[in-house]
Amino acid sequence: FAERDGFIWYDGELKPWRECTTHVLTYTLHYGVGCFEGVRAYKTPKGTAIFRLEEHTRRLFNSAKILGMNMPWSQEQLNEAQKEVLRVNKLESAYLRPMVFYGSEGMGLRASGLKTHVIVGAWTWGAYLGADNMERGIRIKTSSFQRQYVNASLCRAKANANYLGSSMALNEVLRDGYDEALMLDPEGFVAEGSAENIFVISNGVISTPDVTSALDGITRRTVMQLAHDFGYKVVERRITRDEVYIADEAFFTGTAAEVTPIREIDNRPIGEGRRGPITEKLQAAYLALVNGESGSYPEWLSHI
Ligand code: PMP
Repeated sequence: FAERDGFIWYDGELKPWRECTTHVLTYTLHYGVGCFEGVRAYKTPKGTAIFRLEEHTRRLFNSAKILGMNMPWSQEQLNEAQKEVLRVNKLESAYLRPMVFYGSEGMGLRASGLKTHVIVGAWTWGAYLGADNMERGIRIKTSSFQRQYVNASLCRAKANANYLGSSMALNEVLRDGYDEALMLDPEGFVAEGSAENIFVISNGVISTPDVTSALDGITRRTVMQLAHDFGYKVVERRITRDEVYIADEAFFTGTAAEVTPIREIDNRPIGEGRRGPITEKLQAAYLALVNGESGSYPEWLSHI
């Protein structure tokens, strides 16, 4: 990924992609203390727009605050940086990756004296879990790794270190031939995917776990709003693994994954074993919204 043309916003400067290196004694590389965002921009009829940019930037600043990292930029500056990265790289649609990390100003765990660095990279990225799967649905497996415990990892933060568990879980199930992992919380209740929130639908009621161990996903919030607008009942509650087995429909949400139907869990078909009708309706509404085709919630589109 390092060998590419283009520019990355690096501590306030647009630097050539290949020159955006960091020293091997970078604090965040050793200890995982850092935070990041995943943001998408779409080509809309009125030009390229970043979806819910302000919410993503706010979550990034909240993550940094939780980790006790001092942010050298304002939210406005970071919003502008993300737009600038799209413009300079001539990207009409893209995935954006802002990341906040400590540098190589010192070694040892003591964080005083370290500098906070910020980068924003962007590139084109298709359907995260596969284009065919957006219609067909994916096969998932319950992970042998549990999602984090709230007072060990800080789950409100989208922290680099939280992705150790995500990476272990995803790569374990990929090796076994599944598309994504379902992670349970330390008490055994359904939490989320490795990089997605989960929803289940039974008897027309849409349920999603509360965000104790799961990330407070921006796509999750968006889909809850869309479901509410359609008149569906949406409930945030504890969900058990076997409830997913007997659900009529299930899907994942995430900036990268958008709305991805789940067709099978632990080798059991969910409902009819394909994308369900409510999932299809919400997926279409989400894609129309982010692509600027629905005209609703125009305030969620930041044109570049
Ligand atoms: N959970 C985890 C662990 C994630 O990494 C993501 C992706 N950011 C999500 C949920 C979904 O969050 P969002 O909809 O804000 O992208």
